[in-house]
Amino acid sequence: MNVSSPNPSTQNPAEKTAGLTPMMAQYVEIKIANPDSLLFYRMGDFYELFFEDAEKASRALGITLTKRGKHQGEDIPMCGVPVHSADGYLQKLIELGFRVSVCEQLEDPLEAKKRGAKSVVKRDVVRLVTPGTLTEDNLLEAGANNFLASLARIKGDEDADFAFAWVDLSTGEFHIATTSLQNLEADLARVDPKELILSDALFSEQTIRTLIEENVGAVVPQPAAFFESTTADERITRFYNVASLDAFGTFTRAERAATAAILSYIEKTQIGEKPALSPPARMAADSVMLIDPATRANLEIVKTLSGEKKGGLLATINMTVTGGGARLLAERIASPSLHVSTIHQRLDAVSWFLDARQLRQDVRDTLKAAPDSLRCLSRLTLSRGGPRDMAAIAKGLKTATSLAEFLNKHTIKNEPPKLIQEALNVLSNAPKDLTDLLASALREDLPLLKRDGGFVAKGYDKELDEVCALRDESREVIASLQAKYAEQADIKSLKVKHNNVLGYFIEATAQHSDRLLAAPLNETFIHRQTLANAIRFTTSELSELQSNIVNAAERARRMELAIFDALEDAILELSEPIKRVARAMAELDVAASNAELAERRNYCRPEIDESLSFKVEGGRHPVVESALSQALSDPFVANGCDLSAENEKSGGLIWLVTGPNMAGKSTFLRQNALIAILAQSGGFVPATSAHIGLVDRLFSRVGAADDLARGRSTFMVEMVETAAILNQAGPRSLVILDEIGRGTATFDGLSIAWATIEHLHEVNCSRSLFATHYHELTALSDNLDRLFNATVKVSEWKGDVVFLHEIVPGAADRSYGIQVAKLAGLPEAVVGRAKDVLGQLEAGERLNPTTLIDDLPLFNAAQQSSATNTQRDDALKTALDAVNPDDLTPREALEMLYALKAQAKGLKSL
Ligand code: ATP
Repeated sequence: MNVSSPNPSTQNPAEKTAGLTPMMAQYVEIKIANPDSLLFYRMGDFYELFFEDAEKASRALGITLTKRGKHQGEDIPMCGVPVHSADGYLQKLIELGFRVSVCEQLEDPLEAKKRGAKSVVKRDVVRLVTPGTLTEDNLLEAGANNFLASLARIKGDEDADFAFAWVDLSTGEFHIATTSLQNLEADLARVDPKELILSDALFSEQTIRTLIEENVGAVVPQPAAFFESTTADERITRFYNVASLDAFGTFTRAERAATAAILSYIEKTQIGEKPALSPPARMAADSVMLIDPATRANLEIVKTLSGEKKGGLLATINMTVTGGGARLLAERIASPSLHVSTIHQRLDAVSWFLDARQLRQDVRDTLKAAPDSLRCLSRLTLSRGGPRDMAAIAKGLKTATSLAEFLNKHTIKNEPPKLIQEALNVLSNAPKDLTDLLASALREDLPLLKRDGGFVAKGYDKELDEVCALRDESREVIASLQAKYAEQADIKSLKVKHNNVLGYFIEATAQHSDRLLAAPLNETFIHRQTLANAIRFTTSELSELQSNIVNAAERARRMELAIFDALEDAILELSEPIKRVARAMAELDVAASNAELAERRNYCRPEIDESLSFKVEGGRHPVVESALSQALSDPFVANGCDLSAENEKSGGLIWLVTGPNMAGKSTFLRQNALIAILAQSGGFVPATSAHIGLVDRLFSRVGAADDLARGRSTFMVEMVETAAILNQAGPRSLVILDEIGRGTATFDGLSIAWATIEHLHEVNCSRSLFATHYHELTALSDNLDRLFNATVKVSEWKGDVVFLHEIVPGAADRSYGIQVAKLAGLPEAVVGRAKDVLGQLEAGERLNPTTLIDDLPLFNAAQQSSATNTQRDDALKTALDAVNPDDLTPREALEMLYALKAQAKGLKSL
């Protein structure tokens, strides 16, 4: 977590600027106005950092710290990064939690010179780069949203407790929701903002502060004025340039405050540039499945517990082929829907693509080539776009037209479901004129930046073509002049060269100086410069051509920039249709991806309704199954699960799953939770059939982890999570509890697990899965009519355990922990000793460990017996190695056998 704070070294302007050069004084003034960020100060082709910023940046980026001039008798530390590679450095700084103010030159240095030789070029900050306001592709992950969020609370607002708004500047998406202190953590975990703003006052409340700091990487408290609800409407309507907010729907005061705050923060960071944000879309409180952060983390929905995306649910099931599709899928997995009709519509689209194999292939192949139009559009709206962004938008629109053609052909025979039809309508109406305009205006091979010029296609603008021809012809004439002058001066080595100071010039070696400076050659060659080994000239013809080139090049540059602006206007005017097209393509990508997944991995369409059913047949864990198939191991063993409640009053079944270690209990629990998530996200599920009545909240308590940073031990974490579940779960919830009570003494743990089951059964009435090694708990099913005992089958072979991973009705009688420990490679002595202890404990009379400690032979004795066994095995092996069976008569063989038996016995009795 990084909370921004002002840089104390920049607090006193007068003291800071005294005795500085005009340029450094300008730097300090700008720095004082932007205290809570590193200042990238543009000087030519570099961004320079000074003073404390330079020290911080050089440490963070591993770049050399130098110095420039002195201030108050001390060297001014300085470091810099080249402008052309600044993005990479920015990315690193942002990742490290810094914010960066980018200060540009606002005029041509020549303009500044006109005001006097010592005038400083006008500069100012044009953008504040923060984690939540990024727009550059190389600073962003293609398949993930980059949200900036704001949190507001209006005391005494009847409708709302807290309002939470989140926006992705790189795509223009904007959402708003009302939330509560209780649900805030789940909302933050779902949206996963990269940066969050809230008022100073709210941030100073300890509960809120702790909650926010634990869940968001960068928290930036802002002045109360940002969250002022009385001015909120005015700020929102001004931003969107609309007469009233009514067009966007009805919002609570807190929601308006959160929205206005985010817009004010965008204005503050984007400095005069306005992103094309969609109007805030209100997310109803009960529209998505609530999943708290612990459950999200435990189920490894987006990331694994170690923080990797690979190995998480999302990465395993993601078969999308575009950035937009990947983001939409991530959003759906992170917020499974609670609307049956929405889920059905998404499933219908998947089914349709599943049946249309060839079409699906064509659509996916076409989409693969589609650029990320939303991000390109966003850069253009913020005046950060280049010619390639325009070409990308044109390509996106062209892709839309090709997709519409495929789909149209197919839909003649196969009526499309609602979502596909809607997408098709949008794609069919993609703005064709704009596509044609951009296709005719832009070249094939484009520069990254507009200022590099050379992006307008030949034939697009006649006047520009003429100016470019003049410029290029003059260049050609200059190239041919070299031969002419070499002949005229009779100097074979004479060259026509170019540099930025002189422009074009003629150069000859110093030995020809006298002749060139004398008549008659000095009538043609006008002296410009004498160097140690060379002498440089110009001619009136060369000067004229040179100025032709400069003028023509400058004119061409201006004309191209004007064309760029006109094209940009044309694009921005159609930004809404462009966004709709991008969203339609993302929708198709997600549906086709889910269909592809269903076909490749044999997933089925779940039945979703408002019942309290939870019946899965042949269910599999999507991630474990995929890992096993990649490792070419034994296939995943499918298992069914039925937690269905007959009705709301009766409550759902609780499955108490016992079974050996490593048998697959946790896997079974998690797979059912993941199936619920996948189903309600609108995807197919890894099962042969699944009937799921909407799950409104998903809770899990799996695995053990310390949270030392929050001052919580393993057991404390376990209890906090269990408490949250027992306090909040209801009949529509799905609860997954794995090994509750393991982190404390046996009887304490058993008692807690016992009481938890009873509470779930009697009070929460949630559909639940409970895995435990406390086999005693299975007896509870005698009294709790909805408690169902299930166990994982294993078989024993020669003292070792063989895992069958099959869930069957019944209770396990033992955990095979020692066999698993042996498999894990515990020293033989420890395994042997553990067996002895277990034997005594299982004998029943020895439940008091104190007497057991006194009665059992000492550990050393057990170790000795194990060492003796090893000795015996070695002796037998040596004896056997010495024998060649082919050399033995039957009688000798028999005698040998007797001898070996005796030897084995003898050694054993030692
Ligand atoms: P413990 O009680 O020791 O925590 P567990 O019973 O919860 O163990 P899991 O962690 O679920 O066991 O599973 C152990 C391993 O067994 C998994 O990593 C997986 O590789 C494999 N496994 C689990 N379930 C199956 C299955 N249904 N089919 C095939 N392999 C499975």
